[in-house]
Amino acid sequence: MKVAVLGGGPSGAYAAERLASAGIRTVLFDEKLAWEKPCGGGLTWKAWSQYPFLFDSPTPRKTITETVLAAPKSTPVKLTLDRPLLIFSRYDLNGMLLDRAARAGAQIEQTRVLGAERSGDAWRFRTKLGSLHADYCIVATGARNPLRDLGTELTPADTMSALGYYVPGDRHQIDIQFLPKLEGYIWVFPRCGHMSVGICGKGEPASALRARLERYMEERGLSKDGAAFYSHLLPCLGTPAWKRNRVAGERWMATGDAAGLVDPITGEGIYYALRSADLAAEAILAHRESPELAYRRLLRRDFMGDLEFGSRLANRVFHGRFLCGSITSRMVQFTRLSPKFRGVMQDLFAGTQPYIGLKKRLFRNLNGSLIEIVCNLGLGRVVPRPDTV
Ligand SMILES: Cc1cc2nc3c(=O)[nH]c(=O)nc-3n(C[C@H](O)[C@H](O)[C@H](O)COP(=O)(O)OP(=O)(O)OC[C@H]3O[C@@H](n4cnc5c(N)ncnc54)[C@H](O)[C@@H]3O)c2cc1C
Repeated sequence: MKVAVLGGGPSGAYAAERLASAGIRTVLFDEKLAWEKPCGGGLTWKAWSQYPFLFDSPTPRKTITETVLAAPKSTPVKLTLDRPLLIFSRYDLNGMLLDRAARAGAQIEQTRVLGAERSGDAWRFRTKLGSLHADYCIVATGARNPLRDLGTELTPADTMSALGYYVPGDRHQIDIQFLPKLEGYIWVFPRCGHMSVGICGKGEPASALRARLERYMEERGLSKDGAAFYSHLLPCLGTPAWKRNRVAGERWMATGDAAGLVDPITGEGIYYALRSADLAAEAILAHRESPELAYRRLLRRDFMGDLEFGSRLANRVFHGRFLCGSITSRMVQFTRLSPKFRGVMQDLFAGTQPYIGLKKRLFRNLNGSLIEIVCNLGLGRVVPRPDTV
């Protein structure tokens, strides 16, 4: 069995590592290999605890325990994370994952894949360097997958724009800023030697997002001088798209962004890129008879059902109202005033609170949270601005 892996981002590199280390002949194609893919580079506890080499590796990264959350009409709140977030530059992260794949025995080829055709049981891939045959194909070409017949068919309604600047400087905390009437948010993620300052948003043109981000940067004294601009697509599947999502077909599977596997609320994608690669490798190695069927089943059981459920909540999280205020402002206020609610936020930042079950947990805690808030206000421990409660 020979497997061709198209794309060498986190998903392709990890799939290649898993397959090659199990003795499968594996060839990986990437047109750029390690590169600074537009990204925040943030990895939740869920990601690095499941894939401990991310934490143990000497690859440069920031380990972040402080985050500041801000929303309109509420005082920003600092949250000390009980499980840190790791932030990598994507050049370093991709390089580390590709090195691991090569050390496991995968053949790594720097070239662009121009086409993929099936003839009988074999694949033929056309690349800039010539053509290659393989028995099986993993499509990990990211959100801008050029292979129209393989992977998720992303419509404009199932994506969001994400753009920003790499700003020189140093910081020890992340900032998250929610904005009025935006299904998305601004982030400031410190990395080694610079920060990834960006914005993502669904249903708003990139130029409007860029204007919002630049206003924010100006107000916060984050200079664009010497800062490189970046922009990219972020898959953000709506509920109907999850139902028809094309993640596998005969003798192929799509993983990571090429399969639309991104959290529709937070935009977290690196974990799902690694996890789907892991499941694709497991399906090929342990379910030789019908790996595609096994892959679909593994994805659904593992995280896809939860991401689909998240897509039903996204609009309400960013545009909904609670107690006469926006949900995002209430989230910031509740984080400041209620230890119970802070516990929920801790788990959301660690990636351990599934969307299925979130509503139940919030309602179960609501009484307690409201009592804590009233007590905190009554005891005068917190002096809120009049517009915050
Ligand atoms: C602005 C922004 C910020 C983000 N921030 C975060 C974050 O902080 N945390 C997080 O978890 N997620 C974040 N994400 C999402 C994350 O970047 C993606 O989910 C992740 O990179 C997906 O990995 P992947 O391997 O599937 O695809 P990619 O990383 O996109 O890799 C695809 C690879 O395929 C190669 N390729 C494509 N076409 C071809 C071809 N024809 N031939 C050869 N090679 C090809 C490309 O060169 C690339 O290396 C962010 C996304 C954006 C856009």
